[in-house]
Amino acid sequence: MFKTILIPIDIAHASESKSVIDIAVANGNEDTQVILLNVVEEIPRWAAVELPAHIQDKSLQISQDELHAVAKAASIKTEVDVRVGHPYHTILEVAEEKKADLIIIASHQPGLQDYLLGSTAAKVVRHAKCSVMVVR
Ligand code: ADP
Repeated sequence: MFKTILIPIDIAHASESKSVIDIAVANGNEDTQVILLNVVEEIPRWAAVELPAHIQDKSLQISQDELHAVAKAASIKTEVDVRVGHPYHTILEVAEEKKADLIIIASHQPGLQDYLLGSTAAKVVRHAKCSVMVVR
């Protein structure tokens, strides 16, 4: 059984998270900590000056709201974590920080250039120090 399971969620595909959370339930027990993570992409400074003020804060708020809705609908207690950064780097950083022993990541239907795995999923699989389960 895994002690700490990290589930990175792309909020554009938040509706798929139920099946991923069900897999976490099957791989943990009542003591397992399940963390839902969304990474809001950082807006580069040069682009930020052209964009409406507080757009990053609004994105963070939307992510928080989406993840809390996912957490509320889940059959188990989960922790919600929203960070600003680069998705794959931040997923790996949070996995180490929280001492995750399993990352469960969804793979959709990547373009042909990505072969069978999306780019974020592929980098997480390649560079994570813990086990990674890819859900298709
Ligand atoms: P696809 O093209 O199939 O969406 P990705 O590799 O981009 O492939 O995404 C696959 C998975 O990576 C998502 O299901 C999610 O688990 C994770 N992921 C992607 N972007 C983010 C993000 N911004 N925050 C958290 N997780 C993400």
